[in-house]
Amino acid sequence: MAKKYEGPAIGIDLGTTYSCVAVWQDQNNRAEIIHNDQGNRTTPSFVAFTNEQRLIGESAKNQAASNPTNTVFAFMRTKQTLIVADAKRLIGRKYSDSVIQNDIQLWPFKVVAGNDDKPEIIVKYKGEEKRLCAEEISSMILMKMCEIAEKFLESPVKNAVVTVPAYFNDSQRKATKDAGAIAGLNVMRIINEPTAAALAYGLQKRANNVGRRNVFIFDLGGGTFDVSLLTLEDDSFDVKATAGDTHLGGEDFDNRMVNHLVKEFKRKNKMDISGNSRALRRLRTACERAKRTLSFDTEATIDIDALYDGVDFHSIITRAKFEQLNMDLFEKCLDIVKSCLADAKMAKGSVDDVVLVGGSSRIPKVQQLLKDFFKEKDLCSSINPDEAVAYGAAVQAALLCEGIKNVPNLVLQDVTPLSLGKAIDGDVMNVVIPRNTSIPTKKTRKYSTLEDNQPYVSIMVYEGERMVASENNLLGLFHLSVRHAPRGLPIHVCFSIDADGILNVSAEEKTSGNKKDITITNENGRLSSKEIERMIVEAEHFKSEDMKHVKKARAMRALDAYLYNMKKVMKDNSVTSKLTAVDKVKISSAMIKGEELIDDNEQETFVFVDVLRELESIFESAMKKINKD
Ligand code: AMP
Repeated sequence: MAKKYEGPAIGIDLGTTYSCVAVWQDQNNRAEIIHNDQGNRTTPSFVAFTNEQRLIGESAKNQAASNPTNTVFAFMRTKQTLIVADAKRLIGRKYSDSVIQNDIQLWPFKVVAGNDDKPEIIVKYKGEEKRLCAEEISSMILMKMCEIAEKFLESPVKNAVVTVPAYFNDSQRKATKDAGAIAGLNVMRIINEPTAAALAYGLQKRANNVGRRNVFIFDLGGGTFDVSLLTLEDDSFDVKATAGDTHLGGEDFDNRMVNHLVKEFKRKNKMDISGNSRALRRLRTACERAKRTLSFDTEATIDIDALYDGVDFHSIITRAKFEQLNMDLFEKCLDIVKSCLADAKMAKGSVDDVVLVGGSSRIPKVQQLLKDFFKEKDLCSSINPDEAVAYGAAVQAALLCEGIKNVPNLVLQDVTPLSLGKAIDGDVMNVVIPRNTSIPTKKTRKYSTLEDNQPYVSIMVYEGERMVASENNLLGLFHLSVRHAPRGLPIHVCFSIDADGILNVSAEEKTSGNKKDITITNENGRLSSKEIERMIVEAEHFKSEDMKHVKKARAMRALDAYLYNMKKVMKDNSVTSKLTAVDKVKISSAMIKGEELIDDNEQETFVFVDVLRELESIFESAMKKINKD
């Protein structure tokens, strides 16, 4: 029986553009989506740094247009977002990765190569340059989502289930776990986004007692596209196959519109705005809004005052034009749907339900293509596409916790999205665990030494579908000493994937008695435990700096409110006529001091608190004298 966790546990959908948090409510027999302090059920995945403070969520997004170079998107996964270091795209990747190199050209902030070729984002915080890695940015969003839950539950939260795109590779999953650790969270389980959505959908269907169903989850979000085919029966949720693209989503569609309108602006005004990050940011925001409108209307208006060099921009974009600009991307989605069905060896006619998840699944053309493909099958949108993933994550969290009685005892069987194997002679990929194998899983293969007196064997572990090993993603390399053994000595290599989809590889040389077990920890491009410790300390520092800022803002507001009330009283003749001349002078000079302080943002919190106390004491003692009289 798997270990159960104590205390409240939440489900976090760490999204490209928005994140969402939910918790299982045992008394209500369902998961609850938790709203943030602004009353919204999803929170922008934005982090911003200013001269005074760090902002996360709504406040970070609100100032993004005016502070583009210091606003970092939580997920390094978008390619176009000009203000964004899309952390989900950077996570688990190397700086020299061609995907990152392409993205960097579009980001307004600087990304540089850090240790081990790890990409680092440079931001300016309190006047100083800071280098942050993708895990740290993601950890900030995780922390924010955790705080939202803590406020709602009125208790500290340490345990969470975090979702990732199904197509995330091994390093990206590990990096997401590291982000949780930096946020001070115990990530109990990493689950795939479409699988989480299926949990939410399946629970609903289960309530209706519909028997065995093949459910196709189509999850098109802001920056990633995931599909999964599951079979739901009673309490079991079996993922049959999963496919996707970690670089395809709403932001790509926005991008196409932006590029189109940049050309239009150039044609109309003979001005090129493509180098101006602020103008592009404003245009992108308008395009995203127009794109949403086009899901309901056949045309949308773009109106931006003084977009560039004081020149206004006005344009109308039709749904037909939007579809034409993106048709190849929509068709790419359909190709991925087909490949998932092929992997599961299931005919499209056997699919009972097609479930839409992710904001971009609202695009009418996408829905039409899907309907046509699945032969007019109704697409299911009974679950909220923005909330289903967090809902499912909360269900999974409850399943892993002690003391939860009313969550159905579901058994979730996920799959590995990429084939895993070892390079053999001639740079050939020898697959040990084929893609779409159910996890957790463990497979052992026997290999042999190739030469007499070979001092060691090298084990190179790859993930990917290419037959040439080096064309795949190298996860790790290690050597196992074999002490000059003869050719043909058997070496047992074991691949095991845990429930989080994280891989461990070990090798053993049994016959010589020189038993040795080596496990690949895949430190390649990953944070070392020392680095994680440092980042945890830094995260605490950020948090206490944020708290300091909040406290100072509170102290300033309290002083301001007191001054406001004092001013009102001092305008009342019936009061001031009774004050002594000395008290009048004391009060007015204390008020001047207070007002000057409000304008001086540089002062420490205690100065505001002290001045407020001084003001209260002067004012109250003067008032006491009047009241006595
Ligand atoms: P998600 O990652 O699931 O939060 O999806 C966010 C993406 O969905 C963003 O790119 C949004 O622009 C997009 N989106 C949200 N609502 C709509 C809509 N009504 N029509 C088209 N795209 C939308």
